Amino acid sequence: MRPTIIIVCNRCGGLLMALEDQKTKICSYCGTRVDVRRAKKVAAAESAFEASKILRDIKSRKGFSRE
Ligand SMILES: [Zn+2]
Repeated sequence: MRPTIIIVCNRCGGLLMALEDQKTKICSYCGTRVDVRRAKKVAAAESAFEASKILRDIKSRKGFSRE
C-alpha cells in the first residue's frame, strides 16, 4: 500500500486523491495540472481505499456539490 493524500485543486477547489510521492496530478474536475507538494492537503490516508472513504466523508459533510 502506498500512502495517499487528499489535496485541493488550486483552480476550482475540487478534492483530488494523489499519491504522497506524486509530483503532479491532473484535476478531474477542471483539467488543471496541480502541483501535489504545493497544493493544500486536507487529509492523508494509508491507502487509496482509505483515501476514497475519507473523500466521500468530506464531500458529504460539506455538501460538496454545485450542480
Ligand atoms: Zn480543478
